[in-house]
Amino acid sequence: MKYMTSIATLGSHCALQVLKGAKDEGFKTILVCEKKREKLYRRFSFIDEFVMVDSFREISEQKSTKKLEEHDAIIIPHGTLISQMNSHEVEAITVPVFGNKWILKWESDRNMKEKLMLESKLNVPKSLSSPKDIKGLVIAKRHGAAGGKGYFLATDEDDYKRKRDKLIQQGIIHGDSDLYLQEYAFGVSVYLQYFYSPLTNVIEFFGADRRYESDIDGLGRIPAPQQINIDIIPSFNVIGNSPLVLRESLLEEVYAMGEKFVDASKKLVSPGMLGPFCLEGVYDENGKFSSFEFSARIVAGTNLYVDGSPYSAFIYDEPMSMGRRIAREIKNAKNNNQLTKILT
Ligand code: AMP
Repeated sequence: MKYMTSIATLGSHCALQVLKGAKDEGFKTILVCEKKREKLYRRFSFIDEFVMVDSFREISEQKSTKKLEEHDAIIIPHGTLISQMNSHEVEAITVPVFGNKWILKWESDRNMKEKLMLESKLNVPKSLSSPKDIKGLVIAKRHGAAGGKGYFLATDEDDYKRKRDKLIQQGIIHGDSDLYLQEYAFGVSVYLQYFYSPLTNVIEFFGADRRYESDIDGLGRIPAPQQINIDIIPSFNVIGNSPLVLRESLLEEVYAMGEKFVDASKKLVSPGMLGPFCLEGVYDENGKFSSFEFSARIVAGTNLYVDGSPYSAFIYDEPMSMGRRIAREIKNAKNNNQLTKILT
């Protein structure tokens, strides 16, 4: 198939899935690659071009921009882009970005994030404005896409201060303002993956996953007496993802939550949520979902479903990964002269 334009992404997170999907849809593929990762990514023949950089931040420098523009590239943003660049830098990227780049700020800033989730009428665990208000179990989280590193649990103000000070000593945070406190939601954590098409105004539920987070998920292997005797502050650093299917009776609510989120995003951050996103939270014993987080772009949990998911199989008669779905959207928009609806 003739190349129509090219699809570019940063070499990390879900780059393989995104570029494989782009290739399957007939696009030329470009990887913005840090030199230290070149050997890894050269193994994959579906990557057509490499734009080599010392650091991903160079993506907005003229040298990289020029190369991307020469190839008529569209950048697919993912977690690495927003963890390595601040929102001003992301917004200043001149190469077209798939989706709504303005919403990425709402993902990175915890207070804006909470505002959008409340506007979506999701059931969000309460946040606390001061450690003095800690009464039950809370989780202290860093701003941005820190991937759970440096997060901790606390049960009262003293416990909080002790752990906070340890992280300051380790140079991971500077102080209270780097942390956001939220009530801990009990239950089964689930990450719900969606795709919203502004071309058809339809929301597609793509799959669910669970995250394996170190070292909190390893603690269950240690018996209680030994747990008590070790002085560690467990972190929530994502190591990988595992698949999950939901009870079918939960699906109706899954779609409703996705739709409410898309509607609220249109109100607060025009042109709203476009393309892939994820609602992240916990199901309690009554099957009620508390949502503590969203990601306003493709999540790495979709890497599980390169050949399609148990849910994409109901929508597509061909293996449809999230990466390929993005490329399909770009193709559909291009064929109908509607690229402005999906790029910012
Ligand atoms: P986040 O950066 O908000 O995605 O949080 C990273 C991890 O911390 C999540 O994957 C959960 O395991 C855990 N987590 C975050 N917020 C909460 C919460 N309010 N209740 C329970 N677990 C949470």
